[in-house]
Amino acid sequence: MAIARNLLLLISALSSSSVTSAASSSSGLPFVINTWGGPFTAATDAAYLALVNGTAATALDAVEVGCTTCEANQCDGSVGYGGSPDESCETTLDALIMDGATFAAGAVANLRRVRSAVGVARAVMEHTAHTLLAGDQATAFAVQNGFVEEDISTPDSRAACAEWRAAACQPNYRVAVSPDASVSCGPYTPLQVDNTTSAQTQASHDTISMIAIDASGAMAAATSTNGASHKVPGRVGDGPIVGSGSYVDGEVGGCGATGDGDIMMRFLPCYQAVESLRRGLTPQEAADDAVARMVRKFPTISSGIVVVDNQGRHGGAGSGWTFTYAYRGGVMNETVVVSVPPIDTADSSLAYRGQIQL
Ligand code: ASP
Repeated sequence: MAIARNLLLLISALSSSSVTSAASSSSGLPFVINTWGGPFTAATDAAYLALVNGTAATALDAVEVGCTTCEANQCDGSVGYGGSPDESCETTLDALIMDGATFAAGAVANLRRVRSAVGVARAVMEHTAHTLLAGDQATAFAVQNGFVEEDISTPDSRAACAEWRAAACQPNYRVAVSPDASVSCGPYTPLQVDNTTSAQTQASHDTISMIAIDASGAMAAATSTNGASHKVPGRVGDGPIVGSGSYVDGEVGGCGATGDGDIMMRFLPCYQAVESLRRGLTPQEAADDAVARMVRKFPTISSGIVVVDNQGRHGGAGSGWTFTYAYRGGVMNETVVVSVPPIDTADSSLAYRGQIQL
């Protein structure tokens, strides 16, 4: 039986390629899954191989390895140093790590001048009784813990910021200000708010959120991002928020998110999805449900979440774009990327319908 099962796993692994529908069966352990394909698959491979070859002893180590890989190679530019400069041209980082066995968690928000955001998040988890440190004081904590403080801008991020300023600072996130932020740079002063003014939706973004299950079945999750391009300095996204950027309960499953964090953090979509798993929904149903809740209130939101149960069965859902996620587990010899078309909440065949009263 075991040989036949392994053979089946091997056949499905060997035929791995980009597919267009979410897979719900498990590839076996160890297992790694994360938001986005393309350049993000180097992180999937790094975390998976670290578990296979033992350089990562635990799922927690694996998600740190995976997110650190993305921070070091910048993935698509949306993770790590030199991406998403804010209005003042500075790159700042948000990250979270969570242990699904102990519920320990550590996070950094608006981390300045340090590259290894997920590493600092782990230090917050392991060397403080806190969960989240922010800004310059997170930087000071990082330095106390042996991380290097340095300029994390690059020629590319400086050029992107200069170009944005030359284009009248478009797009930006200011609302109800003078001068008119839709045509002009600041400095801005506040105007009386009326109900006709609305914020720009996030223009440029991505994030790595990763969940791992090690060979013992233990789970962990992590998120790392440089947030939203041209954000207001000090802005913190959904990435470092437990239950929003990612979430994991080893008794149930885990979830990782990407998308318009300013809106997504109001819904705690990963907490929602894991709790839906606990109530008996499949990973696909839980993902559809969490995204549908956001789309119902914000029809144009860009979002993507990947959900995995503690057996490695997975699903994903997104809105506003074609979301992709990547996974590798068991004896798979390469990472598979799953492409998820935007959710159509009018589609009555959607798995979540009938399960949840929205
Ligand atoms: N969620 C990230 C943020 O808002 C960006 C993204 O994943 O697209 O900071």
